[in-house]
Amino acid sequence: RFHQIKDKEITKEQHLGRGTRTNIYAGWLKVHSSLEDDDDESNNNHRNVKGIRVVLKILDQSHKDIALAFFETASLMSQVSHCHLVFVHGVSVKGSENIMVEEFVEFGPLDVLLHREKAHVTPQWKFTVAKQLASALCYLETKRLVHGNVCGKNILVVRKGLEEGMSPFVKLSDPGISQSALSRAERVERIPWIAPECIADGARIRSAADQWSFGATLLEICNNGDLPISGSTLPEKERFYETQSRLAVPSSQELASFISMCLTYDPAARPSFRTILRELTEIQIKNPDISSECESLPD
Ligand code: ATP
Ligand code: MG
Repeated sequence: RFHQIKDKEITKEQHLGRGTRTNIYAGWLKVHSSLEDDDDESNNNHRNVKGIRVVLKILDQSHKDIALAFFETASLMSQVSHCHLVFVHGVSVKGSENIMVEEFVEFGPLDVLLHREKAHVTPQWKFTVAKQLASALCYLETKRLVHGNVCGKNILVVRKGLEEGMSPFVKLSDPGISQSALSRAERVERIPWIAPECIADGARIRSAADQWSFGATLLEICNNGDLPISGSTLPEKERFYETQSRLAVPSSQELASFISMCLTYDPAARPSFRTILRELTEIQIKNPDISSECESLPD
């Protein structure tokens, strides 16, 4: 269900960070000459004698169930092909070490970029990014696949497009270990991106969960990489969902009601990604100022 990569085909270089039970490294994947031509454009300048530039996600030493959940994700990502979804080359199993080998994305996570470049980011730029994310999720929706971990950190920037006349290009990263294998605390930690119905033990994750996460991520984008509640303690986060609290939405009326629709506690009431894409385009044409400060929604 996914390509097996041999240990000797990969080279590990610098440590990039830690994820959910993972360590991420930059690295190289050796290419066979037969593969040399059919490669995605974005990789062309990421290639030299060492091969293609990749990211190696090394799973922490863990229980078999977690390894299975990790392989499940690799398999999901290997089944899909979309310009706004990160490319997973395959998995390498080296002794007890499980490594996901993934396309290296030059400018890293969107939340970090937004923090750093907020002064240069325009509302149109944000809409472009939001539409690219929605198009990837719309594609998954038509395939009846759920991502399950949509957030600013998991959107990777291929092209910044901050110069005049340029536009950004982003890709949604793999979701990591599937939600069902995470601990309750790990799920609560993901509030407010994780959908409320996914907190309960044994919850079956459905497509509508991504619609909530999309709403939260759009808000994060509007707020230049910040999201209220994301830094709160676990009990505070639990309480936020238990009381069905609402996140503050932008002051632009149309955008506010659109985001609120995604952030509805009733999963069935959230818009499909088909609708989301259409609405985003309509709102974008009107070009509201989405960078303005937020206002709280009444409970
Ligand atoms: P999670 O499942 O929680 O998303 P993860 O294993 O995907 O966990 P992240 O926290 O998403 O880990 O990523 C850790 C860091 O690794 C990011 O902040 C980013 O700097 C880097 N990174 C991850 N994926 C890539 C990639 N494809 N290209 C470049 N850098 C990446
Ligand atoms: Mg990630």
